[in-house]
Amino acid sequence: MVNLNTPVQKIPRIGVQYQKKLKKLGIQTVRDLLWHLPHRYEDFSNIIPVSETKIGENVCVKGEITQIENTRTWKKKIILTRAIVKDTSGLLKVVWFNQPYLTNVLKTGDFVCLAGKIAQRPEGLYLSSPAYEKISKIKSQAGDLIHTGRLVPVYPETERLSSRWLRYILKPLLVQLREEIQDPLPEEIKKEYKLLDLKKSLWQIHFPDSRKLAKKAAERFSFEELFVLSLVVLRERMRLAREKAISVSLNLEVVKRFVDSLPFKLTNAQKKSTWQILKDLERERPMNRLLEGDVGSGKTIVAVIAALNVCKSNFQVAFMAPTEILANQHFQEISKLLKSFKVKIGLLTGKENKICYRGRTTNISRKKLLQKLKGKIDSHHQNFGVGVDILIGTHALIQGGVKFGLPPGGLALVILDEQHRFGVEQRARLCQQPKLIPHLLSMTATPIPRTLALTVYGDLDLSLIDEMPKGRKKIITRIVNPSERKTAYNFIKKQVKSGRQVFVICPRIEPASAREQNKVRSWADVRAVKEEYKKLSKDIFPDLRIEMLHGRMKSDKKEKIMQEFKAGKINVLVATSVVEVGIDVPNATVMMIEGVERFGLAQLHQFRGRVGRGKYRSFCFLFTESPAKKTRLRLKALISSENGFKLAEKDLEIRGPGEFSGARQWGIPDLQMASLKNVFWVERARRAAKELLSKDPGLKKYPLLQERLKDFREKVHLE
Ligand code: ADP
Ligand code: MG
Repeated sequence: MVNLNTPVQKIPRIGVQYQKKLKKLGIQTVRDLLWHLPHRYEDFSNIIPVSETKIGENVCVKGEITQIENTRTWKKKIILTRAIVKDTSGLLKVVWFNQPYLTNVLKTGDFVCLAGKIAQRPEGLYLSSPAYEKISKIKSQAGDLIHTGRLVPVYPETERLSSRWLRYILKPLLVQLREEIQDPLPEEIKKEYKLLDLKKSLWQIHFPDSRKLAKKAAERFSFEELFVLSLVVLRERMRLAREKAISVSLNLEVVKRFVDSLPFKLTNAQKKSTWQILKDLERERPMNRLLEGDVGSGKTIVAVIAALNVCKSNFQVAFMAPTEILANQHFQEISKLLKSFKVKIGLLTGKENKICYRGRTTNISRKKLLQKLKGKIDSHHQNFGVGVDILIGTHALIQGGVKFGLPPGGLALVILDEQHRFGVEQRARLCQQPKLIPHLLSMTATPIPRTLALTVYGDLDLSLIDEMPKGRKKIITRIVNPSERKTAYNFIKKQVKSGRQVFVICPRIEPASAREQNKVRSWADVRAVKEEYKKLSKDIFPDLRIEMLHGRMKSDKKEKIMQEFKAGKINVLVATSVVEVGIDVPNATVMMIEGVERFGLAQLHQFRGRVGRGKYRSFCFLFTESPAKKTRLRLKALISSENGFKLAEKDLEIRGPGEFSGARQWGIPDLQMASLKNVFWVERARRAAKELLSKDPGLKKYPLLQERLKDFREKVHLE
């Protein structure tokens, strides 16, 4: 018996080849298959007599095959399948290209329904490569058709899964599951918001009776996704509101002293965000705050003030960065900033561990570092080498064995930098005192469209740094055509001569192998770090110091290169996207990006944000070999806008939902992404979720909905 949870391998019509394809798309169960929704429909619902077909038109006809045979064209070695179809009004020629097997499927005397475009050849009009479907007799019902004679679903054809195959699989499944499909949406909600029930929606989204019904069905799916997302977020919020956190009192004197020690003045946006965070920390309820601010807006300082305040109350801080390079950079920056504040700072990554106190850094074993971390409270005296106040690190922080101190001290604040995550999971893993939850501050430069933030975060608190530090100059952004490459190199030479530094970003580490090039021809042109490095150091800039940086290098080597680049000893750094987030080298003034069409707009904006961080005029050169209109359009947006949030919305507009790289990183599946663009439904779904939870917070009366939530949580990691 088939049900929604049946694995796709158990469906007889799905062979091994297709199982593999489905697996690649993450389709494991019948449910996943049914939720693989069409992205558009072909309208073949109007069946016309063959005598009324006209050139250039999309038509659907029904008739009997009176003749069918394969022939080979002279010059091009293409196999043509030629057929003639007859209905009461006349005859129509049909041609298929390179599908010789068709003569095994379609025979003279068969009744068929055909849908396609009418074209012209010297011998007359013909129907060109139509979709076909055998029918038992001329009068068969439209409802039985799946490829022709109706609104025909067209699916995103990734992994070479054809729409034709999907229709062939889905239709019988829907018939079989007639009794099995239970609707998780409560009846009263469906009634109030005028939503189709699940069974009907599944039929109408795959095999709609009309465009209107297809739209209603799509709406219902959007609603359900948004509704479930809202429920998850709101319940998490309710759960958290019942938890207790450490109240960290505000140490105004220290905060002031720190701010005064900075070589610049905080922007108003920084001040406001800092204040909001410090206020949250005083409460006994766990803070759940997202600090959003464009690249270079100065989020780190805000986090450091919060951290310092926590340390001065004798609690600890965990500071998590996405990469080793960034963890290292934070470690050094923060060590420098807090040099005269008697704060003990630790660095824990998979590879190396350090500790710094009063500006003195020493290497330390992981074991020792962890001992210090735990022992902080036993050693109140501030002698060097005892205790850790701020532990900075990568994922290593949550990979087991990391224990913070015990009450009356312990971990009070978790800071996540550029994790593109909600932080729920990280906080849970770092939390060792079940009754005291650490406060959470998540920082991101990934712009999230407003509607998305509203739903994804529910009532999560948001601090926005919507103002750049004073004196930042606009970064000059230019598209560089292949013919202008030399000029660009000369420009770089001049910049280096006057003491500045340069980033060169390539999409790949290694050049594409011959095999890969055969597979995807365009890969031959994609520049690789290793190749560019060779070319630049040998031919273009033989007298400059050039180094490379990529993810497959050993971490001590990576760090050494980063160090030297920061210290100004390297002129040109050829790198992959490892430098994407957070890297701060104020002396770098040129960001040169190869193969820009391979990167998302948000990502390009991040790259660009690596320069223009100091007092010098900075430049971003976009190298493209692709004249594609979409690429140009996106690049134009990048040139005209400096605002990451506006760019994100532009990207969404140009590339469409589901491709928005920022949101992908937040773990939101495509369907929800598409839904989230619709403010109207976002608001209604939120309202419905709130109403339901106020009546039944545990969702006790809705077991199906509970199940759905569980499923959702497993798929979308609310990390
Ligand atoms: P992001 O928000 O991208 O993480 P950072 O925190 O790395 O940005 O800050 C970028 C640079 O700006 C750093 O070199 C930092 O010292 C500097 N900075 C931060 N705040 C200010 C300010 N108010 N005025 C001038 N420079 C600042
Ligand atoms: Mg940063």
